Amino acid sequence: MDKASHLSVVIDLSPTQWHLCSQSSNPHPLPLQLFLSQLLAFFNSHIACKDENSLAVFGAFPGKSILLYSSTTIAAEEHSVNADANTYRPFKILDSTIMDSIRDQLEALELLEAEAPIGLVGAITKSLCYINRLTIPSSSTTRAGEQAVPLDPRILIFSVSPDQSSSYIPIMNSIFSAQKLKVTIDVCKIYGSDSVFLQQAAHLTGGSYLHLDRPDALLQYLTMSFLPPPGIRQLLSVPTQDKIDFRAACFCHKRIVDIGFVCSVCLSIFCNPVPVCSTCRTKFPIKTLQRLNASRPLPMSNATATSSVPRSPAVQDALRNGTPTQNNGSK
Ligand SMILES: [Zn+2]
Ligand SMILES: [Zn+2]
Repeated sequence: MDKASHLSVVIDLSPTQWHLCSQSSNPHPLPLQLFLSQLLAFFNSHIACKDENSLAVFGAFPGKSILLYSSTTIAAEEHSVNADANTYRPFKILDSTIMDSIRDQLEALELLEAEAPIGLVGAITKSLCYINRLTIPSSSTTRAGEQAVPLDPRILIFSVSPDQSSSYIPIMNSIFSAQKLKVTIDVCKIYGSDSVFLQQAAHLTGGSYLHLDRPDALLQYLTMSFLPPPGIRQLLSVPTQDKIDFRAACFCHKRIVDIGFVCSVCLSIFCNPVPVCSTCRTKFPIKTLQRLNASRPLPMSNATATSSVPRSPAVQDALRNGTPTQNNGSK
């Protein structure tokens, strides 16, 4: 570990999902309190590994996302924490800052708000902005001739909520920004079914996606897989995914689709062939639509899936006249 490492953590703090996760009917229940205590031990290990290591923690709450802790802005809060002879002071500041912010946010939640979709995308975007600020310091803070410190930045997402298909496009955009910033995204799925979008996020940024078989042994997983920075992880055998779900959500209904139709101009994805692309307004020739409709497979679920979809007149015409046309090169 010869260079400093930056870790941004996004914690999914959906009260409903954490309640489900702590139920004793689960084979290995993990209450939020126990999760946080193991997480704080992991944070302390990260900042103890190297003096220059930095940490930022973002909470994704229902309908909003908040910066809970940041090691660069902590100097001002240092005075408000009482000294404790038995605790190393930086650990104490980190633990109490994070726990106090989470408690305040959860207590302030109204009953209706608690059911709102989780602000995961907001938290990921904020952590990317934070990393961008760290890696590209503004001209006022850098002295002449001073090089930006190589940070090896990464984002670790703790997820308990299922995918929201409406957030497909913003999550993909975050992944592209992360690739551009050379940020690794790691995902730790603690509860619930696998997340299609987060699997892709980890795969596309060279991170690892871990679905915990034993959530109660969280600290073990964290120390073995997520404590070493990406540079060192190439030498270790960090678990990777055997299979990745590469499905996308359509831009028209935000539904995860098995077969999609892609606009040849802007690469927007649709669940049905469309005469006009809703993103870039490109018009497609009617022959192409006929051909696409004729070549579509007809699974049993197709009738129910498409009956609820309002079709534009052009598509209805195309379907009505839809005799299988030869592939005569009409593109
Ligand atoms: Zn659709
Ligand atoms: Zn388009």
